[in-house]
Amino acid sequence: MSVDVTELARGVTTRSAVSVARAISLVEDRRPAQEPKILSLLANLAKSPNVAACRRVGITGPPGVGKSSLVSALCRALRAQGHSVGVLAVDPSSPRSGGALLGDRARIVHDPDDGDVFIRSMASGGHLGGLARAAGAAVDVLSAAYDWVLVETTGVGQSETDIEHVADTVLLVIQPASGDMLQFIKAGILEIPDVLAVNKADLGEVAARAGAELRAALEALGTARTPPVVHTSTLTGEGIDELVRVLAEHRDDIADLSARRIEKSAQWALRLFTHRYGELGVDDRGGPSALRAELSRLIASGASSLSAVAQLAPR
Ligand code: GDP
Repeated sequence: MSVDVTELARGVTTRSAVSVARAISLVEDRRPAQEPKILSLLANLAKSPNVAACRRVGITGPPGVGKSSLVSALCRALRAQGHSVGVLAVDPSSPRSGGALLGDRARIVHDPDDGDVFIRSMASGGHLGGLARAAGAAVDVLSAAYDWVLVETTGVGQSETDIEHVADTVLLVIQPASGDMLQFIKAGILEIPDVLAVNKADLGEVAARAGAELRAALEALGTARTPPVVHTSTLTGEGIDELVRVLAEHRDDIADLSARRIEKSAQWALRLFTHRYGELGVDDRGGPSALRAELSRLIASGASSLSAVAQLAPR
């Protein structure tokens, strides 16, 4: 398939769903011959003024807490406020079969005729914790098109930490009485989210108790900033508008968004680089800190994470 990258980028920035879908398929294409096109597309899209304005939210949490339901509810609330929304749902998949664990079911409910909502799922392929290799680039594509980009991943091990590399704001979703809290504290996961949602607030007393326990756990961590906790219910709609407000507030309060994005993209690029060239490749570049600084410099001067990785390929 021959691709006119300039035309494709124009389609993405004018929010053509066909173009956005084709652009994401292109960044998922692993054939080496496609790489120049992918890099050129990303460079083209990076020029879109929408990228700086876009709010990118990573949504993570254990299976079954209601992430997909919450993403559907957030989409509806954001659309009601006139915002366009792009969603990337990353499903865990077995590296052996390559098939998504949760199958191909459309888990997020939306109006198929609404051109201002775009939903795409991606199998993680077992790489990079719970995030797909192409997730960062797919987020870059969506960021050129939509006001809000929501990236949903299931909390399986590393994904909670990886998601922060491609999002401005990380939302951790938990549910009452799930016993996950102790695990989160042990694994250091509570230190990652910028905002927390205790979903299934309609369960009443048990939800209120979970919220109180969570606040106590967060305070015990003694971090500089205790993240806000919002009680939500996708059944009753409780807390959904408040969640939108809190997410927007977090994103809009980031003092230097562009520096933060550069830093996070460099971390993501380091993950990609290590995945591609192994630790020997990283050592060849002077070790992780030196390499990250180099990646950071390239990204600060306009390179995408993928292009920075390509430029620093081991000699
Ligand atoms: P995910 O695996 O985290 O994406 O969770 P889902 O969105 O698939 O939801 C898991 C289950 O929880 C489903 O049966 C939902 O109907 C249910 N669920 C989601 N949100 C709520 C809620 O706010 N209250 C209640 N009681 N159930 C919910």
